[in-house]
Amino acid sequence: MSATKIVLLGAPGAGKGTQAAVLAEAIGIPHVSTGDMLRAAVAAETPVGLKAKAVMDAGHLVGDDIVIAIARERLAEGDAQKGFILDGFPRTLAQAEALDELLPRIGSGIDCCLAITVQTEAIVKRLLARAEIEGRADDNEETIRERMRVYDDQTAPLLDYYRGQSLLREVPGMGSVEEVSSAILAELEAA
Ligand code: ADP
Repeated sequence: MSATKIVLLGAPGAGKGTQAAVLAEAIGIPHVSTGDMLRAAVAAETPVGLKAKAVMDAGHLVGDDIVIAIARERLAEGDAQKGFILDGFPRTLAQAEALDELLPRIGSGIDCCLAITVQTEAIVKRLLARAEIEGRADDNEETIRERMRVYDDQTAPLLDYYRGQSLLREVPGMGSVEEVSSAILAELEAA
């Protein structure tokens, strides 16, 4: 396995969280999800959590400063030194640039950006189904559409950012969990 510092990109509902967990297990590196860390902060009612809750419930992005600080702290931990799968970070150009500045201090830069591609209508369906199962506060239809708009606007430009560095690899996300993870592993082998 050549790539171990991996950014996973994809619209909300593309399956990033599921795939990141499978890959982290398969490769033996930590799964770093800023969404999970923020939800934990909300649940624990930390100062960051109290600030982030309303923003997340509305489907908007938490401020770059907060999220960059969270990611920086997590990536400085011992288990992240041999590699990591970043899920949900970076989500803006400013975050991607911050990550690039941060990484040389903890070793080398990222090896690969994997983008899971799916179609909008399929995603909305998936997210509505997940809303019923998990009851996440940001999984109602209006918020889902808002998160898609935010993705198109703020996060999709990162595809070009990583393409420009020849780090982008795209994997179709519509198969089964196993099909998608095999496709991702094959891309990583080749990266
Ligand atoms: P999704 O399943 O929609 O991809 P996540 O679980 O990754 O969502 O994140 C949930 C919410 O947490 C986001 O809608 C956003 O409000 C906040 N969040 C997570 N990561 C970031 C980030 N890198 N920058 C800003 N906000 C973030």
